Amino acid sequence: MKIIYMMMSCFCLSCLAQAQTRIAIAIHGGAGTISKANMTAEMEKQYTEKLDEAVSAGYAVLQKGGTSLEAVVAAIRILEDSPLFNAGKGAVFTNEGKNELDAAIMDGKTLAAGAVASVTTIKNPIMAARAVMQQSPHVLMIGRGAELFAEQQGLEIVPNSYFRDERRYQQWLKIKARDSIGEGRLHPDWLPKEDSFVKDRKFGTVGCVALDQYGNLAAGTSTGGMTNKRFGRVGDAPIIGAGTYANNQTCAVSATGHGEFFMRAVVAHDISALMAYKKMSLKKAADEVVMKKLVQLGGEGGVIAIDNKGNIAMPFNSAGMYRACIYPDGKKKIAIYKD
Ligand code: ASP
Repeated sequence: MKIIYMMMSCFCLSCLAQAQTRIAIAIHGGAGTISKANMTAEMEKQYTEKLDEAVSAGYAVLQKGGTSLEAVVAAIRILEDSPLFNAGKGAVFTNEGKNELDAAIMDGKTLAAGAVASVTTIKNPIMAARAVMQQSPHVLMIGRGAELFAEQQGLEIVPNSYFRDERRYQQWLKIKARDSIGEGRLHPDWLPKEDSFVKDRKFGTVGCVALDQYGNLAAGTSTGGMTNKRFGRVGDAPIIGAGTYANNQTCAVSATGHGEFFMRAVVAHDISALMAYKKMSLKKAADEVVMKKLVQLGGEGGVIAIDNKGNIAMPFNSAGMYRACIYPDGKKKIAIYKD
């Protein structure tokens, strides 16, 4: 009897050790009207290389025994610093010609969360979100208050002009002209030539979800929001449960797409809830929300999601989504268009 018990406990311990050494990570760089026809080989190369750099950096943190939170911040900082994405440098422009940034992070172990919205001077909003989570009793800080807090925390502060990227600026000018037609301020003949970059006013929000060797999940998202946004508009990214959510019992999720729909569908928490209450698999739950619920509402976009076993799902209902992941077996995937 004693021998059987010892054998069983040895077996269970080895199961545990195995389960705890699984690490995995996924990132996204935004979803939208991304098609091969609109992409040059050079642009495709740049996006692929940057996605590779970010996912590999996050994975290296996990491999060295770092936490999923550390991996999420490491990957997102690289994407924020790249002008290719709509987060940090290269963020979209507001109606006033500024860049206003939103970001959130969540710890699946404790359900602690932190977020900032409408910030204009914090170089890496994801770090400010982490500071809100770890150094304050709050979850969400906005605008000037969030910037003062970030400054007090010793985070890097930059002039708003740091975020400016010429390609984004030109995109904003075209979209602004287009919006003026809707408001009756411009004749349709003056319409700028339509390309996908103009048609799609988001493009390039970034996010990361990760599982560390301690079995903990984390999720983070960072964005400039929607081009030509007005009146202090804030999207789903910094709203816990909408664009960002993590819970060790279920999954970690980061979303990208038309934020108004993602907020109304409470996308990230909904995926977790389907797993918790309906015992759905990660894939089934993510598909249910992204490919059915959101589609019915008319919401375009996608998510990256990871569960506590390292399963990864990256569904999207748009033409494309910049995405990359490294599975528990170490295999890497980088993709832009539909599989
Ligand atoms: N979800 C972001 C927002 O609505 C935009 C995006 O993901 O592209 O602010």
